Amino acid sequence: PATYELNSSMVLLPSNQMKPRNFDPRVGYFATGYVDFDANPQGVKRQTIITRWRLEPKAEDVEKYKRGELVEPAKPIVFYIDPATPKKWVPYLIAGVNDWQAAFEKAGFKNAIIAKEAPKDPNWSIDDARHSAIVYKPSDIPNASGPHVHDPRTGEILETHINWYHNIMLLLRNWYFIQASAIDPAARKTKFDDKLMGELIRFVSSHEVGHTLGLRHNFGSSATVPVEKLRDKKWVEANGHTPSIMDYARFNYVAQPEDNITAKGIFPRIGDYDKWAIEWGYRWTPQFKTVEEEDAYSNKTIIKRLSADNRLIFGTESDPNDPRNQSEDLGDNAMKASEYGIKNLKRIITKMPEWAKNENEGYDDLSTLYGEMLGQFNRYVGHVAKNVGGVYTTPKTVEQKGTVYSRTPYAIQKEAMDFFNKNVFTTPTWLVDQEILNNIGQNPTDIINRVQISA
Ligand SMILES: [Zn+2]
Repeated sequence: PATYELNSSMVLLPSNQMKPRNFDPRVGYFATGYVDFDANPQGVKRQTIITRWRLEPKAEDVEKYKRGELVEPAKPIVFYIDPATPKKWVPYLIAGVNDWQAAFEKAGFKNAIIAKEAPKDPNWSIDDARHSAIVYKPSDIPNASGPHVHDPRTGEILETHINWYHNIMLLLRNWYFIQASAIDPAARKTKFDDKLMGELIRFVSSHEVGHTLGLRHNFGSSATVPVEKLRDKKWVEANGHTPSIMDYARFNYVAQPEDNITAKGIFPRIGDYDKWAIEWGYRWTPQFKTVEEEDAYSNKTIIKRLSADNRLIFGTESDPNDPRNQSEDLGDNAMKASEYGIKNLKRIITKMPEWAKNENEGYDDLSTLYGEMLGQFNRYVGHVAKNVGGVYTTPKTVEQKGTVYSRTPYAIQKEAMDFFNKNVFTTPTWLVDQEILNNIGQNPTDIINRVQISA
């Protein structure tokens, strides 16, 4: 028989309420809301506020904070690492949390967020809702998630229990192998060294922690980077391939072997957008007594910062028509980025039987990785397809120039059609590697059919 243990926590909401901050579609926060019958006496108004932690300076540091000095918050955000976590991954999970400290410095706080190993105290429990934690799930689910509990009146985040499932490591292996093995020799095997897997876990830790800070996906971030910059070693290693770790921009598949780009230019990282988003959401503003008083200041700040630096742009994940806001893409031109991606896939497929080989085993990994490669090719094609008949949506207030909606330009749509004729409707025979197909039991007609029909 199996034994299950159930735990319930009740949290008393704070009597001293945090001042909320109004949601703005130009900065990507999770939001909560309610209908306020008093707010607009001539109709019903929906109040939408962002979710965020309560960060305030200690009483003795208020003047320092106002002068612009970095201070520690009265109550920092603390994450505990599940004691059941395999020991070798703990330092990477901790690093993924602490990597956010630099972003909070933009909001005026130092040591605002910190990860610790769970205390060895029998009275301490990971299920206690007074603590936040990164919980290890010994499970075959290849995923991770970052939920949180917040005060519905103010959006104040009260606690979080991040889930990371053991088998996220399979997902990471597959992504990194398919997207980076053409340029990183460390990816050319089925079992990565611990250092590489650790860095991959650190990236996932940072992304999930970002969600628990209130940040939602920023699918538009990668589209602010010119494709050729992704091949510029100096530039991409200094800036990262995408200005947000909250994008679904995984690894630099655009970089070519001759570019000699190292991990700094291959991996995602906390970037300019993330720092700006934390600054906007977490800056303590006692000069405004109510949330409404803040609106004009907030609008003015957003307009000023976004017009000065397009790397701070947010693009929602819930707009299926805007080719800039796509998942798993890189750069500002899908046709160019996908051409480079395909060049790398062509390199990988010829080496795949050798790199996917496991002694004393059959062809399971080869089958998985070949399937992943087809998936990646379909993604490249999908990114291009969105440009045909696409609609750009740029949320604006009336104080901003230009319109909210515009069409994908003719030249871009034409470029997308040319890409299809060259890479999809001209049979991509390179996908048919007879040695691979004969070991994994697939036939060429099916493969090509699948690719062309889905396009
Ligand atoms: Zn996410």
